[in-house]
Amino acid sequence: MKLSHRLDKLPPYLFVEINRKIAEKRARGEDIISFATGDPDIPTPQHIIDQLCQAAHDPANHRYPETAGLPELCQAIARWYQKRFGVTLDPNKEVLPLIGSKEGIGHISFCFIDPGDVALVPDPGYPVYSMSTLLAGGEPYFMPLTEKNDFLPDLETIPKKIAGKAKLLWLNYPNNPTGAVAKLDFFQKAASFAKKHNLAICHDAPYTEVAFDGYSPPSFLQVPEAREIGVEFHSLSKTYNMTGWRIGMAVGNARMIDALFRFKSNLDSGIPQAIQRAAIEALTSSQDCVAEHNAIYQRRRDKLVRALNDIGLRARSPKASFYIWARIPDGYTSIEFTAELLDKANVAVTPGVGYGNAGEGYARLSLTLPDDRLDEGISRLLNWNRTKRK
Ligand SMILES: *Cc1c(COP(=O)(O)O)cnc(C)c1O
Repeated sequence: MKLSHRLDKLPPYLFVEINRKIAEKRARGEDIISFATGDPDIPTPQHIIDQLCQAAHDPANHRYPETAGLPELCQAIARWYQKRFGVTLDPNKEVLPLIGSKEGIGHISFCFIDPGDVALVPDPGYPVYSMSTLLAGGEPYFMPLTEKNDFLPDLETIPKKIAGKAKLLWLNYPNNPTGAVAKLDFFQKAASFAKKHNLAICHDAPYTEVAFDGYSPPSFLQVPEAREIGVEFHSLSKTYNMTGWRIGMAVGNARMIDALFRFKSNLDSGIPQAIQRAAIEALTSSQDCVAEHNAIYQRRRDKLVRALNDIGLRARSPKASFYIWARIPDGYTSIEFTAELLDKANVAVTPGVGYGNAGEGYARLSLTLPDDRLDEGISRLLNWNRTKRK
């Protein structure tokens, strides 16, 4: 048989070697503490699970769902955007539920990118933006996110020729992996840039609800022109600890939403309805659980950031997201550093270079592990540092 050339474009998976090592160590019975995965350890709140179980018993939910999603879910999403951001959305035209936001992020590239087209992609960044560009036959142009620019892309430095060929601009705030946040004036600048160069913006925003110290991250759609040129991807995964249930949404520009809907309606048959019912419950009931989760992450953040700085890994305290982006000591590549922590301390972290070349020199640590594991991980890091210095 002959596989498509499309698949040859996917680069080898960078974490293969590290994952192999972790698996080997675990098979030998070693206890590895992992700061590597961005997947909430806290279960989905009880009231959401109760609704899911109840909906699972209803035969109406045993049949094919519609790609467009339940009208009640689209309305719940629109109401949530109104309440949370003061953004008014037409639930019929400007909202599309997704099988997790990753699904929509991957597929929207196919609605815009033809062979030879360019997508502007943050580096470091969530890999799906560049991979879906490649799969669609396009070329990612990487915009470096540097500490000097507070991990915001410098749109002015993008060459005119590239901006002219670009059809999509990807943004993601609060940011994975850097934990950086963006203010509305940055989104405003991005919207003007997009209008000037006739390109569309995809803002990936699964972390707007994971925020600390009273900070409340904005939505890109709060910018007045946003819905003329862009959509925002959102997700219930990180907000309500629902990564396993697979539900998210795209909201914003009606033409972009319709294009994504037309593409998807030929590939999938929607989201299991019981899960849509659970999502309605999550969005419309009390949001106390969100504040409770954030208080837990905030305590973990404070402990971990302190420990990392104590051992010489310079780390800023993120205002949002559950990631710490730590500068690794000189003399290591991020892969070497990750391997050393795994070998010597049985602690797994993610090498920054896994998110792009501009991630070199950093490691990402996630706060999504139980408190006792986090404490044990920190004491292993402190120990490792002590013995290294001897
Ligand atoms: C977790 C994550 C997603 C995907 O979330 P799902 O809705 O679970 O698919 C998208 N973008 C970023 C940056 C993420 O970290």
